[in-house]
Amino acid sequence: MSKFNEMNGLTVHTADPSARAERMAAILDGLTPTQAEAAMLQGAVLVLAGAGTGKTRTLTAGVASRIALRGVPPARILAVTFTNKAAKEMADRIRGMLVGESVPSWVGTFHGLGARQLRIEPEVAALRPGFDILDADDSKRLVKRTLKAMNVSPEDAGDGSDPLKQLCNRIGKFKDNLITPDEAPARVEAMIAQAKATHGTIDPIGMRLAARIYIEYQRRLREANAADFGDLLLWPTKTMQRDEAYRRRWADRFDCILADEYQDVCYVQYAWLRLLAADHGEIFVVGDDDQSVYSFRGADITFIRRFEHDFPSSRQVRLEDNFRSTGHILAAANAVIAQDKKRLGKTLRTTKAVGEPIEVVGFHNAEGEAAGIAAEIRRRGSAGVSWDQIAVLYRSNHMSRGIEEALMRSRVPYVIVGDVGFYQRAEIKDALALLRLAARPDDFQSDEAFRRVCNTPPRGIGPKALEEIHLEAAFRGVSLLQSVETAKLPPKARVAILSFVDAIRSVGRNDTGTLADQISLLLDRTGYREMLRASRAEETEDRMENLQELVTLAGSFHNAADLLDHAALASAAPGEATEGRVQLMTLHKGKGLEFPHVFLPGWDASTFPSTYGDHDEERRLAYVALTRGMQRVSITHVEYRRGFTRPSCFIDDIPAANRVMGWLHSQSMKSPRPVGISSRAFAELDTLELLRRF
Ligand code: ATP
Ligand code: MG
Repeated sequence: MSKFNEMNGLTVHTADPSARAERMAAILDGLTPTQAEAAMLQGAVLVLAGAGTGKTRTLTAGVASRIALRGVPPARILAVTFTNKAAKEMADRIRGMLVGESVPSWVGTFHGLGARQLRIEPEVAALRPGFDILDADDSKRLVKRTLKAMNVSPEDAGDGSDPLKQLCNRIGKFKDNLITPDEAPARVEAMIAQAKATHGTIDPIGMRLAARIYIEYQRRLREANAADFGDLLLWPTKTMQRDEAYRRRWADRFDCILADEYQDVCYVQYAWLRLLAADHGEIFVVGDDDQSVYSFRGADITFIRRFEHDFPSSRQVRLEDNFRSTGHILAAANAVIAQDKKRLGKTLRTTKAVGEPIEVVGFHNAEGEAAGIAAEIRRRGSAGVSWDQIAVLYRSNHMSRGIEEALMRSRVPYVIVGDVGFYQRAEIKDALALLRLAARPDDFQSDEAFRRVCNTPPRGIGPKALEEIHLEAAFRGVSLLQSVETAKLPPKARVAILSFVDAIRSVGRNDTGTLADQISLLLDRTGYREMLRASRAEETEDRMENLQELVTLAGSFHNAADLLDHAALASAAPGEATEGRVQLMTLHKGKGLEFPHVFLPGWDASTFPSTYGDHDEERRLAYVALTRGMQRVSITHVEYRRGFTRPSCFIDDIPAANRVMGWLHSQSMKSPRPVGISSRAFAELDTLELLRRF
């Protein structure tokens, strides 16, 4: 161990050698020498290694060692990853390695940390303190209203099958590529010219319109004192580029920057990290170019390949031992990714036994497939596998429904880990809208919340009455809720909505109760709970339970603003229990995670590779899928799904020696065959690169 000490010139901040040894052991024990060495390296470090080689583990050891051994104050470390689940996992692992020190508070997702930076200095985005964060749904609604106000029909805005979605994507891409509204028109013109010159494809009308709408949409966001997800990093990053004093203020806060899953950063994330690390060059990133699966969102593999160029004095570390998967699984994954001709290529060998071959099971149709998976899961449950050791990973969200139903019928408890999580449920959004109104009834930024709940339960506020309220609000220059008092409304509607406003205001004024009490009171006084109770819909019970869960959750927040922020950024309830449940999620959500038993449905040509995706990226996704499995991986496919189909080409890429047809338990099992920056301001993206991303 003293070797690391000398090598890195460590200033270990404890005089007691035995205490130091204990700390070191807590952090580095169980790591390989290469991992331990990497964790302790100073300066710019890139750990570029395959799946399951301990990249995340090395990164967390890196954080802990900086605190406990190098004496870096936890508050001066920033560590970032992509999903809330991964961020929580990261914080837990760090906590587990530290004795007596606190976990850094700047551990989180890109969105979450960007939001924090923006909260501290909101004026860089022309926002005021206390701004709202709109989730993807709310921002889509605002885009729609912007179109209406500009007299543009969504059909004029794009050439895809869902033009509104396409428009939102384009606005998101401007932001992910660090293009502000005032820059957008010129950048679009440059892209169009570039496309012409290089015979590239572009939708000039749709793109020009997107740039125009972007400007108006952003104006409306500001007016409502709201930020969308893209704003959370766009404005801090843009301002760091433009304003050196601001950049220094932020860069000076942190002594080191660490990022997991670096292969999936998009331009704005990349620029944000670089600008923060520009002065000290203490940047530790880990990633695997074979697992890059977000190019459709602007992620770019070239950023990881460019790391050495960005930080010329950087050190690169390779890890080659996979600690996760057994032999057959790893051999299958290696064979699938080997077909990607453009990859850099790396060695990956298992440290585990050869294990079981991959099962490939065919079904007639999707229903049969779901039932087959559920039955097999039940069977493994009876054989002693606990539910939470099992995951089902599918290509796209809609596939969860059939599997859910089959699991329900088989009485297997499950949880969906994913986008449409707790906070996206209608009743939760309604309750939070009530809370927002109560907290800030007279703010314009509460208008969206008002629109959401003013007629739930029905109070006679149809489109016409709402239009009237809008006109009154515009005329008086007040919030929608405030304008209700004087708006010309039919008498019955007027009585109903005034009593609603009264309930909101009286709960909002009363600040003696807890946040939980407030939510509960709002649900009662506005008739929301009563409405649910009276409905005989099948999901009523679920919805009541969800509301109860929200009330309980509210207990851990100081005030309404904290809870509202958290809800906008979280995809699932913090305590969403995965214990004792089979986990269902998309392949994308499964990145970085691992499970002893993995089921991969939909490996047929109709579904995977997806015809919408880039073929290489789909292949990398197959690699991610296979490498989630620790002991057992089971692939299923169907003959018929919206038409006849055939097994996925990725199945053919798995060597015959590593797979069997049908469930293992039904084989006449013979033993399986053996397996063999320093520049701180850098140029904007060039137009050709930009064109590639749209
Ligand atoms: P991915 O590419 O999927 O993100 P990763 O490279 O980040 O994977 P980890 O999740 O850090 O890999 O580690 C994979 C598994 O291997 C974990 O269960 C981890 O605890 C274990 N592991 C990592 N390093 C070692 C080691 N030196 N000895 C034993 N187990 C290890
Ligand atoms: Mg990882």
